Amino acid sequence: MTVFDRILKGEIPAKVVFEDEQVLAFHDVNPQAPIHVLVIPKRAIPRLSDTVDADAPLLGHLLGCAREIAKQLGLSEDGYRVVVNVGIDGGQSVEHLHLHVMGGRPFVWPPG
Ligand code: AMP
Repeated sequence: MTVFDRILKGEIPAKVVFEDEQVLAFHDVNPQAPIHVLVIPKRAIPRLSDTVDADAPLLGHLLGCAREIAKQLGLSEDGYRVVVNVGIDGGQSVEHLHLHVMGGRPFVWPPG
C-alpha cells in the first residue's frame, strides 16, 4: 500500500482540491512551486507504463481534471506544467500513478 492509498482511505490527511468517482486531487506536501497539486486515480495503478489502451478514458479524464484544477487555481493565463514521473529514471517515488500540476512560477526546459 502506498501513501496515496492511505490518503484515499482517509488514514492520512490531505488538502483536497477536487474529488469525483474516479479521481482525487490534493496539494503536494512538499511543493516545488507556489501551486503544486497531485491528481491521482482512485484505482491503484502503479505507473503510467502499467496502463493499457483501455485506460485511455481514465487517462483523458486525469488530464481534463488537471486542466480544470489549473483553471480553478488561476494558472490558465500564465501557464503551468503537468508532469508524470515514471519509474526509477523518471524520478517516481510513489508507486501510484499521479499527475503533478505545478504553477505560479516559470519553469525551465529541459527539466534536468
Ligand atoms: P513522484 O516523485 O513523482 O512519485 O511524486 C510523489 C509526490 O508525492 C512528491 O512530490 C511528494 O512530495 C508527494 N507526497 C508524498 N507524500 C505525500 C503526502 N502525504 N501528501 C501529499 N503529497 C505527498
